[in-house]
Amino acid sequence: MRPISYLRVSVTDRCDFRCVYCMSENMNFLPKKELLTLEELDRMCSTFVGLGVEKLRITGGEPLVRRDIMTFFNSMSRHLDSGDLKELTLTTNGSQLHRFAKDLHAAGVRRINISLDTLDEKKFADITRWGRLPQVLKGIDAARNAGLRVKINVVALKGFNEDELFSIADWCAQEDMDLTFIEVMPMGDIGNEDRIDQYWPLEDLRARLAERFTLTDLPERTGGPARYVKLEETGQKIGFITPLTHNFCESCNRVRLTCTGELFMCLGQEDNADLRAPLRANPDSTTPLDAAIRDAISRKPKGHDFDYSRQNVGGQMSRHMSHTGG
Ligand code: SF4
Repeated sequence: MRPISYLRVSVTDRCDFRCVYCMSENMNFLPKKELLTLEELDRMCSTFVGLGVEKLRITGGEPLVRRDIMTFFNSMSRHLDSGDLKELTLTTNGSQLHRFAKDLHAAGVRRINISLDTLDEKKFADITRWGRLPQVLKGIDAARNAGLRVKINVVALKGFNEDELFSIADWCAQEDMDLTFIEVMPMGDIGNEDRIDQYWPLEDLRARLAERFTLTDLPERTGGPARYVKLEETGQKIGFITPLTHNFCESCNRVRLTCTGELFMCLGQEDNADLRAPLRANPDSTTPLDAAIRDAISRKPKGHDFDYSRQNVGGQMSRHMSHTGG
């Protein structure tokens, strides 16, 4: 079986923002019974840890709006204590960090990714519809004061944050935060008029950065789609994620679990396995779940057999892509 060391787990489809590239304003969220309970999430993740997962990234929606989510983080920390899990982390929009940063650190979280596309209050309100920038900045402060290392994930959007490239990079350098840009393809089915114009290839973004800074490619790979450079003048590290390039498939060590217990074996394909059924049918044994996971992972594509026709560039896929940073 191909070694899978990195699991991303969505714990909710809900969010307190409505980013235009991710959600429509009026969303129908999943009924509660469809979601894995916190106890089921615990069993699921623990089974993966038993199978060799060393890095667990919690995502959403917005993971910190899930009720009692700290119960889950606290319980996962036992795997950090045992040494089986090397890293417990999350991707968040930052809105709730002022409430949870200390508790997350206490649970063993050391690094977090925060999705933030602009430092302009008005633009922030526009793109998130419901979000407020000062609250997120307060959350970032709280995270850093709690001892969490912060990485800022920026979705690159032409005509939206192009003009903030240097101000965002400078801000991250000043605050000693890592920075990653994420490329997003034009949107399909979110009902948004002019997104098609907002595709900003990271190649262009990188060339713009190179006008002001000396970029050195870093060999560092994490088994995912990110590539890193160092800006020699500031010493900061900047990542680039182009989710739909497939040059990392052979080394890909990651799988993704949705909040309803579907396992996606590949970031770029829709092939998935239902793990909720074997989990719910066998409350007293993890053997069937274990077998279902092994079976699913054995189907993980190896790179060259990539089936491009099955990609879903718009909508659903793009949403996950917007949070691929890690
Ligand atoms: S992109 Fe993230 S913060 Fe924005 S609505 Fe989607 S899940 Fe929420």
